Amino acid sequence: MNTKQQDKQYIMHTYGRYDVALKSGKGCYAFDEDGKKYLDVSSGIGVNALGYCDEGWVEAVTKQAATIQHMSNYFYSPQPSSLAEKLCTLTPFKKVCFGNSGAEANECAIKVARKYSFDKYGEDRNEIISLRDSFHGRTVTTLSATGQDVFHNYFFPFTEGFKYAQPDIDSVKSLVSDKTCAILVELVQGEGGVNILDKDFVQSIRKLCNERDLVLIADEVQTGVGRTGKLFCYENFDIIPDLITCAKGLGGGLPIGLCMCTEKLAEVMQPSSHGSTFAANPVVCAGANYIIDTVCDENFLSEVNKKGAYLKEKLLEIKGVKSVRGLGLMVGIELDDGDAHDIAVKCVKNGLLIITAKHLLRMLPPLNISYAELDEAVEILNKTIMEG
Ligand SMILES: *Cc1c(COP(=O)(O)O)cnc(C)c1O
Repeated sequence: MNTKQQDKQYIMHTYGRYDVALKSGKGCYAFDEDGKKYLDVSSGIGVNALGYCDEGWVEAVTKQAATIQHMSNYFYSPQPSSLAEKLCTLTPFKKVCFGNSGAEANECAIKVARKYSFDKYGEDRNEIISLRDSFHGRTVTTLSATGQDVFHNYFFPFTEGFKYAQPDIDSVKSLVSDKTCAILVELVQGEGGVNILDKDFVQSIRKLCNERDLVLIADEVQTGVGRTGKLFCYENFDIIPDLITCAKGLGGGLPIGLCMCTEKLAEVMQPSSHGSTFAANPVVCAGANYIIDTVCDENFLSEVNKKGAYLKEKLLEIKGVKSVRGLGLMVGIELDDGDAHDIAVKCVKNGLLIITAKHLLRMLPPLNISYAELDEAVEILNKTIMEG
């Protein structure tokens, strides 16, 4: 049986896949089983922050795998400790809690927010307000947190205590009550269509959270670690959330998720409040340490911004592109007509790996992509749209 047949027969059918089996990759290029080359502007949904098999990243990860690959969380370990120190030195956050994915990072943030409120106000103050068109993960609780009705099916009963606001401050305020403990937002909604929240709106949420002692959680699973041209996206909004979660790009291709909190929440979690067997894995954290060391550089981040602006400008020159939006190298493309998924499938056939978000095409290229590679991506997309 070949790969596609094995997949169809033995893997639960939770994904509609593109008709390609990827076997290897280098930089921004992937190769399928027949040796066909693809330019990848999806990075495995923003995960391969430095592209495929970046040399420094491979060296960091393989060296750690050959040193010690796992110990339980009952022991101290240098890789996660130095990663946590790095993150808390580069940001205003004071403590980190490790997990293995974006959904888990959000679960942890939800637990921190609810326990903060429980400790201070008792058990009835536990509601969390999230936004319409958000996406926060696939566990039963993070599906609940996700403000899209299509995700609230089949798996009843869902976790209680979530309300969904429109992205305006009056809608948020109308849902706040004595039961509210937190507001959860993606500052740029990724899966929901690369929707950038309005800066005034975000600042009003921050103010409201201060007034009512609500925990402001920013889900930076997709926007974090340089994707939007800042180390973290909240920097674009001149606010500091109380909690942020991050995952996708952080490990450079290995599974990691974490949440970080400010001083106010630093002592909320105590022994046995949370845990995860695989969390803080040293091999994964060695990869993340390498990613953070590379990405936190001022020049690197300003290049991400410049490349994002360049990409958007070039995309707008394509006939058939209606509008382009996003921050840094997180870019959504609205088409005049034609189904985005259909165009994405055709792009893949033409050698460009691209994804969608709602009715938009979405690009999340490796953060170190070159201008020439961006040109090539635009060229393939242009050609694909012209072919219709
Ligand atoms: C991808 C994503 C998640 C879920 O992350 P997983 O690693 O798939 O669990 C949560 N929030 C946002 C904003 C995401 O983009």
